[in-house]
Amino acid sequence: QAAKAKQATWIVYNTALELDQSDTLVLIADLKQAIQQNQLLLYIQPKIDVTTRKTRGGEALIRWVHPEKGMLLPDQFIPLAEQTGLISEITDWMLRRACEVVADYRRQGLRINLAVNLSARDLNNMALPDQIVALLTEYALDTTALSLEMTEDSLMQAPERAAAVIGKLAALGLPLAIDDFGTGYSSLAYLKQLPVQALKIDRSFVMFMDKNADHASIVKATIDLAHHLGLNVVAEGIESEEVLARLARLGCDEGQGYFIGKPMPEKDFSIWLERWEGQNEIDIDIGDDLS
Ligand code: C2E
Ligand code: MG
Ligand code: MG
Ligand code: MG
Repeated sequence: QAAKAKQATWIVYNTALELDQSDTLVLIADLKQAIQQNQLLLYIQPKIDVTTRKTRGGEALIRWVHPEKGMLLPDQFIPLAEQTGLISEITDWMLRRACEVVADYRRQGLRINLAVNLSARDLNNMALPDQIVALLTEYALDTTALSLEMTEDSLMQAPERAAAVIGKLAALGLPLAIDDFGTGYSSLAYLKQLPVQALKIDRSFVMFMDKNADHASIVKATIDLAHHLGLNVVAEGIESEEVLARLARLGCDEGQGYFIGKPMPEKDFSIWLERWEGQNEIDIDIGDDLS
């Protein structure tokens, strides 16, 4: 049974990547270089309170400027990085870069928070919490500087170990969120006992909720369920004013999506922030109540 499941995973990864073996080997070699040669970029996608439309922070999303292939999206290399173990170097890079960016913004008087995505391997790494503490100390930041996102599936690969790592992260005071909620195979009984603050509803349900009644029902049910469990709800994939307004009526807490802002280079974020907060006639002050 276990062997069969493993084989199935392997096939899924291969199809998703659409690469033959030699392409894969080249890409692995390239990825090792990418980390050393500064080809990785941290992009930021803004996250807002859907009721007040006030900015709540941002999600850090990785991009790879490949010397021949150009800009690569995470789906084109993160699965490969997970398979080969290179993901831990990528995570280290992202966490450090995120601290650098937040520290820069704080020097300019903007108290932003960045959410970093963790992978299954990171959740198996008992040393990760101490590594994060060391980074925060190095950049003179507190735990409101970062938050962490993890998918249901990444948690389920080694649920007990993941729970131990997550327990340590939560004890440090880092806000944690379950990502892509609704697409994985975790049990609610398991999720309920994890010390997380938020559920992020997968964009596949949010994107067309104004046109698809089933999707709208799933979103509504997820919001109610999360609130019953005492969790915040973040909707991802908000592509229109209609969807944003509807999420606010359903009591959703936070949201992100192309309608609000696409992932952007870190230096563009302050420009976005000024424009967005100006449009919504709110002072630029995201210093209080970060989550
Ligand atoms: P995610 O964590 O669920 O991030 C949200 C993804 O949805 C991002 O894709 C974002 O660009 C996209 N998105 C947000 N709003 C909209 C919208 O309104 N419409 C549409 N069509 N898409 C929207 P991206 O940047 O391509 O990242 C894909 C996934 O790759 C992420 O999904 C995350 O699971 C993973 N990822 C990204 N950066 C990292 C990283 O540094 N480490 C790890 N382990 N995974 C990462
Ligand atoms: Mg995420
Ligand atoms: Mg997500
Ligand atoms: Mg996603």
